[in-house]
Amino acid sequence: MSSQPQAQDLAAETDPVSRRAAVVINPTKKTDVDIRALVDEACSDEGWAAPLWLETQVDDPGQGMARQALEEGVDVVIAAGGDGTVRCVAAELSGTDTPLGLLPLGTGNLLARNLDVPVDDPAGAIRTALTGTERRIDVVHVKVDEAVDSDIFLVMAGLGYDAVMMGDTNTALKDRVGWLAYVDAGIRNLPGKPVRTMISIDGGTPIQRRLRSVMGGNCGKIVGGLEVFPGARIDDGLLDIMTMAPKGGLGWLNVVAGLLRRGKGRGTAVEYFQCRSAEIWADVPQDFEMDGDHLGTASRISMRVDPQALRIRMPYGKKDPAILTNPEP
Ligand SMILES: [Mg+2]
Repeated sequence: MSSQPQAQDLAAETDPVSRRAAVVINPTKKTDVDIRALVDEACSDEGWAAPLWLETQVDDPGQGMARQALEEGVDVVIAAGGDGTVRCVAAELSGTDTPLGLLPLGTGNLLARNLDVPVDDPAGAIRTALTGTERRIDVVHVKVDEAVDSDIFLVMAGLGYDAVMMGDTNTALKDRVGWLAYVDAGIRNLPGKPVRTMISIDGGTPIQRRLRSVMGGNCGKIVGGLEVFPGARIDDGLLDIMTMAPKGGLGWLNVVAGLLRRGKGRGTAVEYFQCRSAEIWADVPQDFEMDGDHLGTASRISMRVDPQALRIRMPYGKKDPAILTNPEP
């Protein structure tokens, strides 16, 4: 056997040119700047090899590309797209030692916002992906109805009326009263009745509620900087659950009161739970979304947190609101 492969292996450890990024890009996202040129230039500036470009497709929104990137042994996989692309790439990277970088090209960019990754500065986001500090975050596995395979989310999942409604929220009102605007959007959008729902927390005896919405959160913030789960941390191995149950003539007012009290007090209009797993059954199929992507309807979902399963690149020196600790040691 020749000694040449050994020499190459040695070079791989010492030569910075051997470092390489893969970029899983959603080609349907239109940008003002030439993203490919920016990434190519940043890699070249850092002394990295030319990046591996992989485009997502309608029938494979990121998983296959992330798997290919792992097979090629790249040093970081950058998800260039919206939260959907991030979710698909993260599903493959979780449980591996290969870190995820974020190049936000979507409108929500929920995970990036929670981690303070720049959402309107592509060059800054690319720099962060290549040379940022590395942290481990939790991912949440989700099984929907009778599905055999589990999916993951990184920010939040919602069954019933939930944060998808944020898109229709009156922005001026939201600035003034925060949560009230969220509820206002719900009242205007989704007339209808609460649905009988059972919830089992950490495998415990199911509790029964009449709910409009159940949300699972891995971190606290959704669109507009609203904190759905106050104090939720993305690396504590805990899943946050919130339920909303308007009832009676003053139903939504009770929900508002519950939100303002952050679930404390006697009422069950708003309840919060922290757990490692949760199972939820609704009597009637409900709208279902993960990380802002509407994924049809479901009547049964189970969620399980996988603590610190995903390595992720974050900006240096940012005190991260989702983690609440300074990433700098
Ligand atoms: Mg948590």
